[in-house]
Amino acid sequence: MLKRPLALIAALLLILLLSWSLRPKVTAEVARTALIMGTLVEIKAVGSGEKDIEEAISDAFSAMRSEEGRFSTQIETSQISAINRATAAIEVEPEVLFVLQLGQRITRLSEGAFHMGLGGLIRLWDFEAVTPRVPELSEIKQVLPISSEDAVSITGTRVERRDTNLQLDLGGIAKGYAVDRALAVLRAAGLESASVNAGGDIGLLGGHGERPWKIGIQHPRKAGELLATLALRDRAIVTSGDYERFFMLEGVRYHHIFDPQTGLPARACQSVSVVAATVAEADALATAAFVLGPVKGLALLEKSHEVEGLIVSAEGRIEMTSGLKDQIQWR
Ligand code: ADP
Ligand code: MG
Repeated sequence: MLKRPLALIAALLLILLLSWSLRPKVTAEVARTALIMGTLVEIKAVGSGEKDIEEAISDAFSAMRSEEGRFSTQIETSQISAINRATAAIEVEPEVLFVLQLGQRITRLSEGAFHMGLGGLIRLWDFEAVTPRVPELSEIKQVLPISSEDAVSITGTRVERRDTNLQLDLGGIAKGYAVDRALAVLRAAGLESASVNAGGDIGLLGGHGERPWKIGIQHPRKAGELLATLALRDRAIVTSGDYERFFMLEGVRYHHIFDPQTGLPARACQSVSVVAATVAEADALATAAFVLGPVKGLALLEKSHEVEGLIVSAEGRIEMTSGLKDQIQWR
């Protein structure tokens, strides 16, 4: 018999208490989808308490819808539509100012390859039409920006078009920004692990539980096949490709990323994937590098701070920034 039964009971209780506090937390993973900005958006979140996660995800979707309401050219009450109608500078919300300033920076860095004044051109090509057509060169000429300069001029919190013939279109950056806003909502709700994917514009909060998120890069010419995968945490990754929205006519592929110099679909790449700190920046840089092509596009990504990227050229050749080479897994 033991001499000190009380000590034994105390020790047992301590062990019990320790194992209880060290038990793996009950975690739930919730995935939800919603149609926003014409895209199927998927949010996945990991945490404890399924109800709280569901609520956070629904708030994140709402945040994305409000950004759509600010930036869409299809919505008459959006701030971008207001700028497109105005004949003088108008006051804009901080969110709009932020995105326009980021866009301006990418326009300058890319020497106009990323251009926020292609609204007229995008309407002319009308990829949403039932039977899209290739416009005449004379029609294209009428809606092209006259220079590769910024589409807007900003004074304090007031914005106007540089030229009233220009129509703004923020399709190359606003979706990325909306994903950033969704992530901010999930973070503020106390979540530490989430992913938001808006049709290839992906933002990541933390890792996927203990591990990093494993993100597949779509093969630009083999539908449903991956080119490579990347293990990432707390990053943004965006892919712009000529296979996302396009139509074929007499064997020629016409897609939705335009070279502002010619008004025609940019021809030098099949796809560009960019890893950056924010989804908005990755989104705009991917569009810019796509237009610039493998050589100048790669140079743009290399000189951007904390940015990595992978470019598939028109011929299918793969170019990568130096920092990506030991992060990427081929498959
Ligand atoms: P996705 O919507 O497929 O993610 P991207 O981010 O690659 O597309 O951007 C394409 C969208 O950006 C087009 O639908 C159009 O609204 C706009 N756009 C097209 N060409 C340019 C360009 N050279 N600069 C800025 N925006 C562009
Ligand atoms: Mg883009």
